[in-house]
Amino acid sequence: MNYRLIVSEKPSVSASIAYCIGATEKISEGNSFYWQGNGYIVTNALGHLFGIGMPDDYGFEKWELDTLPIIPQEFKLFPLKGYGEQIKMLKNLINRDDVTEVINACDAGREGECIFRYIYNYFGCTKPVKRLWISSLTDESIRQGMANLLDGSEFDNLFSAGFVRAKADWIMGMSLSRLYSILNNDRHRVGRVKTPVLNIIASRDEAIAAFTKKPFYKVILDNGAECETIFDTAEQAKNICEKCSGKIFTVMSAKSERKKENRPLLHSLTSLQREANDIYGMTAADTLKAAQSLYEKKLITYPRTDSNYLSDDMITLAESIVKCLSNYDSDRVSRLLADGMNIDSRVIDNDKISDHHAIIPTNLIGRLGDMSLSEDEKNIVGLVINRFLCTLDKPYIFNEIKYEFTCEGEVFKLTVKTPEQLGWKRYSVSEKDKVSEKNIAEDYSENDTFIAKNISVKQGETQPPKRFTESSLLAVMENIDRLIPDKALSEFVKDRGLGTPATRAAIIEELIAAGYIERKNKQLISTEYGRKFAASLPDNVKSAELTARWEQALSDIERGVGSSENLLSEIIKNVSDIVSFEKSRDSRSKVTRVQTVGVCPRCGKPVVENSKGFSCSAGRENCGFFIFKSDKRIGRNYTAAEISELLRTGRVTLKNCVSSNGKKYSAVFSLDDTGKYVNLRFERFANK
Ligand SMILES: [Zn+2]
Repeated sequence: MNYRLIVSEKPSVSASIAYCIGATEKISEGNSFYWQGNGYIVTNALGHLFGIGMPDDYGFEKWELDTLPIIPQEFKLFPLKGYGEQIKMLKNLINRDDVTEVINACDAGREGECIFRYIYNYFGCTKPVKRLWISSLTDESIRQGMANLLDGSEFDNLFSAGFVRAKADWIMGMSLSRLYSILNNDRHRVGRVKTPVLNIIASRDEAIAAFTKKPFYKVILDNGAECETIFDTAEQAKNICEKCSGKIFTVMSAKSERKKENRPLLHSLTSLQREANDIYGMTAADTLKAAQSLYEKKLITYPRTDSNYLSDDMITLAESIVKCLSNYDSDRVSRLLADGMNIDSRVIDNDKISDHHAIIPTNLIGRLGDMSLSEDEKNIVGLVINRFLCTLDKPYIFNEIKYEFTCEGEVFKLTVKTPEQLGWKRYSVSEKDKVSEKNIAEDYSENDTFIAKNISVKQGETQPPKRFTESSLLAVMENIDRLIPDKALSEFVKDRGLGTPATRAAIIEELIAAGYIERKNKQLISTEYGRKFAASLPDNVKSAELTARWEQALSDIERGVGSSENLLSEIIKNVSDIVSFEKSRDSRSKVTRVQTVGVCPRCGKPVVENSKGFSCSAGRENCGFFIFKSDKRIGRNYTAAEISELLRTGRVTLKNCVSSNGKKYSAVFSLDDTGKYVNLRFERFANK
């Protein structure tokens, strides 16, 4: 009997697929297992099992300017540590003679494609490949997907784009991180997307620091109307109050207009992350994690999507999902069903879906009440459901009247909104979307007159730009074209952003981990270290334009109209230019976070002080250079200054030493590196 081997990304996904296609026998191999039956074997990766290695894997062990940029002759795949058993099992399964076909069931996106291809390519497999491409993990969706398997080669371009992105980011990230680490004598992290994002945050924080607040004064009537003129001094404003006090105001105009505010679009990953940050203060990373888990629990559809729309073949499904939500909010659902769902081009648009449609509940959402979910998961599934129902609801309709009053030559303005149909606004989760029912006591008609009971001065201050939150930063990353002054280029990158929806959360976390930015409540604020580092970099390392253009090139490769080689050589040229530019630069002030004591004699990386001693910042596994601080022979610890001299000259005179029998002395020591241990070798006593 022959088998078709299905490879998914995770055990939970494998279990869902196995159940659905009747592969019910669970077979263990060590701590790993797979499913078999009905002509199928179902197994999985555990996220990425292979990577393209580190510079050391290609022979670039030493941190030296002359080896930069680091460009491997040919990229290879390396097994990631800790997955030996899973990899061995996959190898056995993929090579089994009775396995005649392999089905790639990894997540339907660029990353999932790479996870599968790395496995398939690493084992040099040549068996035919099919692709399971689905947007939700419900039985129905798996069954449909299995009945309509696609040919693996249809995704060659997707893999090309994923692989060239990995290679380009590697060359740029590894080369420039080393370059700036060497130049600054500190561990720096530079990345194609990361560094421009740092620069965006740092520039904003600098603008805030440079901002000077200015007071201003408004004149306000008791009905809420404001004087058209805004004043620089309280004196001027008071004069107006006095001038108009007890005088007749005339209604010059009262313009009424019926207005509509349409429903928000369905959620993409970015809009979901923004809303979760605004409402619950959740980080983008936590939102993605919760959404991925809800997807695996089959409650929502595939989360790594940049689309806000559904396809036209989903109309019936959308209607049935609404019915599934009856238990969740019966009043709201029955009202929606009675009024009729608002399914129009704001919900359905085939042209605005690339790989995946918007994030919506699945038709298993009815199970929600029976499932135990984490707090984050509850928040996220709530937002997805609410947005789904809002989008199908009626628009918010209100009546807006704009009044203009005059008195003693001054013009006062007032806008009054009266809700007519609340529609989706009734369920709005966002504060700023809440309907304010501003009522005025009187209704005015043109040429009416009145005397204001109270005229007052209200002081305000001009406000600096706002700090970034994850929500506003995600918005900038998604709409990077708005930051690009060059019209032609900004038009060019309009549909791209910085990074992809799936990677943006990780980029924020990496910047925090590197110490360049900090999270303070909801705000993301650059550290002084981060601002100095961003300021020290040339434009072609930190500009959003360049990376946005590459993002566009990657998307072209994905669609089969761009060349991987061209993109790679452009990036290599750019990195080479940066390296030569930095090498030729005469002076620079170093940007360091930790006090480094010197340069590692083994590998050239900075040596830093920590509680136990002085260690090479390349780490124990990569280098292992380490000097213990305490030394019984001298009766005290080495100081940073002493180790600094030792590293610089190979020799140091230690003063104020006390031997074990209490004798005071000074002596010259030299550096003795056995290759394994680093010692200070006693040379001779020094003259006092
Ligand atoms: Zn070292």
